[in-house]
Amino acid sequence: MMKATCNVAFLAVCVWVTGAQACPGSNMPSASDAAVAGQRWLTGRFVYSFSPDVAADTGRVATFEEACQKLLGTTALRCTPRSEAPAAPDFVFVINGGHDFSYIGRQGGCQVLSILSWNNPIIVAHEIKHALGWAHEQQHPERDRYIEVDFEAVPARHRAEFRVRDLKNEGPYDFDSIMHFFPSDFAFPGEVAFRTRPGETGRATAPGQRNHLSETDLAEIRAVYGVEEQQ
Ligand SMILES: [Zn+2]
Repeated sequence: MMKATCNVAFLAVCVWVTGAQACPGSNMPSASDAAVAGQRWLTGRFVYSFSPDVAADTGRVATFEEACQKLLGTTALRCTPRSEAPAAPDFVFVINGGHDFSYIGRQGGCQVLSILSWNNPIIVAHEIKHALGWAHEQQHPERDRYIEVDFEAVPARHRAEFRVRDLKNEGPYDFDSIMHFFPSDFAFPGEVAFRTRPGETGRATAPGQRNHLSETDLAEIRAVYGVEEQQ
C-alpha cells in the first residue's frame, strides 16, 4: 500500500513542459514533454515568490527555503526571495498545487513551480532542481550504459519521459540522485520501465530515492553555478 501511494506521488512529481507563461493566475500546464529547456539563472540569484496561500503558511515557506538552501547553500547562486529583488525580471512563482511540477531551467518572466508533496522536502528539492535546469537522471546522455529502458512497458503517452536529453549540465550518471525515477514510474501496472545493466552494484540495484540529496546532485549544481566565495 505504501509503495502504491509513493508511486502515485512520484508520477505526479515528474510531469513538466517548458515555455514561459504568465503567472500568477494562469492555468497549470498539462503536457508532459519538453522540447526546449530553459536557461541558467543569472546574476547569482535564484529568485522566487509565493502565492498568497503559501506565503501565509510559514511551515511551507520554511520547507521551500530549506530545500533551496540545501541545494544552493554551497554554491555561488543564492536563494533570493523576490521581496529582496523586486526588479528581477525572472522568478519562480511557488504555488500549492494539485501535483508537483516545475519547468526545466529559467524560462524568462514568471514561471510556476507547484508543490503538492509539502511533507517531503526532497520532493520540493526535486522540483527546484528542475527549475535550476536539470531533467530526470534516467534521461542522462549516457544512461544507456547504466540502464536499459523497456519502452514497451511504458504507455505511449509517457514514453517521452524516457527520451535522452543532453542539457550540458549533467555530472556522472547517478543512481542515487533525487532526479532518478523508480523503475515502476510511468510503467504499466506491475511492470518496470527500466532495468539496471548487469555489473552495476550497490545503489544501482535499487534506483530511485526521495530521502536525501546525493553528492552528485550537489556537485553538478556547483559545477554549473560555481562555488560560494569564502569571506
Ligand atoms: Zn521530476
